[in-house]
Amino acid sequence: MHENHNALGVALGHKPTQPVTLVRPHAAHRAARYFLEKFPGTSMYAVKANPSPDLIRSLWDGGITHFDVASIAEVRLVRGLLPKATLCFMHPIKGEEAIAEAYHVHDVRTFSLDSLTELAKIVAATRRDGVDATDLTLCVRLRVSSSHSMLSLASKFGVAADDAAPLLMATRQVADALGICFHVGSQAMSPQAYAEALAQVRVAIVGAGVTVDVVDVGGGFPSVYPGMEPGALDAYFDVISRAYESLPVSYSAELWCEPGRALSAEYASVLVRVEARKDDVLYINDGAYGALFDAAHIDWRFPVALVRETESRAKPVGFSFYGPTCDDMDFMRGPFELPADIQAGDYIEIGMLGAYGSAMRTGFNGFTAGATVIARDEPMDTVYGVTETSPSRVISIR
Ligand SMILES: *Cc1c(COP(=O)(O)O)cnc(C)c1O
Repeated sequence: MHENHNALGVALGHKPTQPVTLVRPHAAHRAARYFLEKFPGTSMYAVKANPSPDLIRSLWDGGITHFDVASIAEVRLVRGLLPKATLCFMHPIKGEEAIAEAYHVHDVRTFSLDSLTELAKIVAATRRDGVDATDLTLCVRLRVSSSHSMLSLASKFGVAADDAAPLLMATRQVADALGICFHVGSQAMSPQAYAEALAQVRVAIVGAGVTVDVVDVGGGFPSVYPGMEPGALDAYFDVISRAYESLPVSYSAELWCEPGRALSAEYASVLVRVEARKDDVLYINDGAYGALFDAAHIDWRFPVALVRETESRAKPVGFSFYGPTCDDMDFMRGPFELPADIQAGDYIEIGMLGAYGSAMRTGFNGFTAGATVIARDEPMDTVYGVTETSPSRVISIR
């Protein structure tokens, strides 16, 4: 991997013809420290957000020791990188072979579930010589509202709090430690999301009359994007801490969280080249099948900055982007605010792509990623500024 100070250095020095991923290990490291110092419990990284080995190592160096893995490939990946990490298999629906390999080969002891069928699968897959496992931490996934979040995770998984008693009681019978987990949806714009979900946890615990050892509030912690400026994460942690303290859980119970986006968003940006301009539409060399899946499919607005040696004085205009493939779906509506005089040959840095950006890249139509470069500057400082008081930074507080 090359090192280069920032996007401008890469653009001028290399004139790249393919999209370049700029990674900032210092930003991931800082996000890890933030969660470790401020979240009142254990923070695990949700690997799905960005499975880059370099990022996973940066988070480990920053002090993250627990990882939320959702597939056997993620289990193998993290175990291969970090032999001592604690891995939690938090996908509520898994193949029995995946559970067995995770438990017997990779030392995974924590699993989530949302049905009696999955519970039976876990019990069968972790049995050894006809003897049931006695060291399982099993987290029952509750279905909670995604109404405060930009991206719903409410439909696919989870058992409603009112219906959870039979599953909680059956899980208690076979688990060494019983947990309850949920996910409020990604990019939760208000801490109230967690307060409401934890109220559902209370309903579930009281309804089942079971002793609970782990409360896992999942992911959903927001990052800052244009038009999406949530309050500071401290406020989220305060709300969670207060609601958790009042729950009827065992005195030795643990509080966990599973941030994906908040630990990884600032880690990466992508430097793209403008290949053509037609009015307020720019044809760029990355798109929906590359790092911009969310920009194309759910109209996510990522921060953008023109990367040019002499700063443009032209007024900002809202542009849309077409990606490099041949189909109309490769379209990012934006609006992405860029100077009016932008033209073919210019470079743009698209920021906050560390979460659900490079992780979604495909090789469709022959367009793939170019080089990866380490940048030492602050993520998108021309957009967000670098001052300590900048309200647009949630986790980059130094
Ligand atoms: C996706 C996911 C996460 C991470 O969510 P973010 O919104 O990126 O923080 C955490 N836990 C589970 C179970 C998930 O599916």
